[in-house]
Amino acid sequence: ATPTSIMVGTGKAAESGILFKGGEHLEGTHELEAVVLDKTGTITKGKPEVTDFSGDEETLQLLASAEKGSEHPLAEAIVAYATENNIDFLEVEHFEAVPGHGIEAKISGKNILVGNRKLMNDHQINTAGNEEKLVNYETDGKTAMLIAIDGDYRGTVAVADTIKETAPEAIKQLKDLGIEVFMLTGDNERTAKAIAKEVGIDRVIAEVLPEEKAAKVKAIQEQGKKVAMVGDGVNDAPALVTADIGIAIGTGTEVAIEAADVTILGGELLLIPKAIKISHATIRNIR
Ligand code: ADP
Ligand code: MG
Repeated sequence: ATPTSIMVGTGKAAESGILFKGGEHLEGTHELEAVVLDKTGTITKGKPEVTDFSGDEETLQLLASAEKGSEHPLAEAIVAYATENNIDFLEVEHFEAVPGHGIEAKISGKNILVGNRKLMNDHQINTAGNEEKLVNYETDGKTAMLIAIDGDYRGTVAVADTIKETAPEAIKQLKDLGIEVFMLTGDNERTAKAIAKEVGIDRVIAEVLPEEKAAKVKAIQEQGKKVAMVGDGVNDAPALVTADIGIAIGTGTEVAIEAADVTILGGELLLIPKAIKISHATIRNIR
């Protein structure tokens, strides 16, 4: 590979909004066989909104007050929803995020739990009778969360995120280039599959804890494949480092951008097949 042609290639990429940290990553991109996409903030816009809430006003007040301490996009959606409904936020005595599960908080002496089935099971909360409702939300691609107060189930909240308009086309182009496309997410399997179906992804790795994301990338590498990971979040950083090529979403966190080899401006997914095409054209010219 001549340094000059690599420079021309990375320059061309930069003009399109694909920022390579070094020329070697253009060569690495040429060898890619699989692309793993994070769901929230990568395939979706990462600006979820509450679509459904069931529970009384006290439950909404405790739910929203508890979520005020979380930085998760799900929490932002719930806080915005409560604000629109003129809910007064209460002072939080204790707050704890449980990665991949939800949150625990103490407010006005009451113990609040918000999260998925796993969180409720871990605390032996009886949520029987809600399964059909949850499955319906999840089949629609919504993320459903359960709320418990002092050990009792008190309500459900469902949140939906919007898919980026160009995601289906970007995934089609990747497949046309012979790339295997995966979705990787901490979200529920049914929700993940509903979103995957909308964008044309058939390989879904769901319910992955933040600390397991890198291991999932490694497992694909162990099948002998060169893998790119695409992500925006702090919890994607180890996977971005593990992948042969880490691709950060330009609208994502600073941590992800620093961990990655490439950044795509504006989070435009069409720039991923474009980067591969530029790498092919560049390397073809060299050989
Ligand atoms: P991702 O970022 O891919 O959605 P996470 O590991 O952050 O994955 O979250 C996995 C699941 O944990 C969520 O789908 C949700 O059910 C639960 N969860 C995470 N954070 C919160 C929160 N602040 N409030 C309620 N539930 C949460
Ligand atoms: Mg994300």
